[in-house]
Amino acid sequence: HELRILKANRSFMTHFQITGKNIEGSHLSSVISSDSARILNEIFVTPLNSGTSFIEKETVLETGENEKRIFVARSSIINYHSMAGKTVLLTMYDITQEKFFEQQREDVINFVSHELRNPLANLFLFTELMQDDPGNVEENVQYLKKMTANLNRLNNIVRELYDSTKAGAGQLQIQKSVFPVEELIEEAIDTVRMIYRSHEVIREGRCDVTIHADNYRLIQVLTNYLTNAIKYSPDASKVLVRSDKDPKKVIISVTDYGRGIAGDKIPYLFRRYYRTESTIEGIGLGLYLSSEIVKAHKGEVWVESEEGKGSTFYFSIPY
Ligand code: ADP
Repeated sequence: HELRILKANRSFMTHFQITGKNIEGSHLSSVISSDSARILNEIFVTPLNSGTSFIEKETVLETGENEKRIFVARSSIINYHSMAGKTVLLTMYDITQEKFFEQQREDVINFVSHELRNPLANLFLFTELMQDDPGNVEENVQYLKKMTANLNRLNNIVRELYDSTKAGAGQLQIQKSVFPVEELIEEAIDTVRMIYRSHEVIREGRCDVTIHADNYRLIQVLTNYLTNAIKYSPDASKVLVRSDKDPKKVIISVTDYGRGIAGDKIPYLFRRYYRTESTIEGIGLGLYLSSEIVKAHKGEVWVESEEGKGSTFYFSIPY
């Protein structure tokens, strides 16, 4: 079949970056890349050859230099009974963006279920161990402690997922009260010290101011910074928590001596689901939520990091 273009709409022209050309009467291959033309030609001719009135096919086409997009292309014969030759109409839907979102959703489901599996497996293991020897109080107390840690992990994942859907919809609840900054710092450090024994948490500076803020949420932010600092510095033995104030705001920071973060990745850290690696447990929501919580207080989050040396994560809260 020698197919010639009778007409193409503007959307086709812009999508395939065809400018200033009259393409009516041309062959497809003279207006779009030869690979794309070959694929489209095949879709065009299928109904002519097969005797069906239309076909629909998902396909990837090159729309410009180094640019590929995903389409659903539907080809149908529109003048079946014409003597002059048949006309085929090709309708194309660009579904690249939908595919991207679909893939993103699938990725999220994948790693969330992966993250849930691990603590669940541990819980099963410890209940089994306890059933094996119910009378062994000393061992069972240890198992119960480990079970609590795993329940904490599960609880965090579920809370982060829930909060992130709320934050995404701009509905993160903030309940403000007045309290000393030091109180929130102490509370977060206490919690982290109880859960992680691997690192010493060192306190620097002091900030004798009270703030009007959501105590629980800010503890969540600092706990997240601290947990990350410990998680991403497995070979180090300490992390630092600093607090400073200037005339308008308090600045709280957490420093670690871990792997650090490459400069080109830093702009993405606070994005939802962003992770630089997949080997360490986590779902990439902690920093996103932290930044949403701090933003809801009109504060700021930022980070300084040097690869191989460590990182300092900051947040500020106006007072
Ligand atoms: P999670 O830890 O659950 O993956 P976060 O949102 O808390 O999610 O962190 C996002 C990503 O930022 C992490 O996956 C990690 O790659 C990077 N990151 C966070 N904190 C640190 C840190 N202290 N040192 C190095 N990388 C970090």
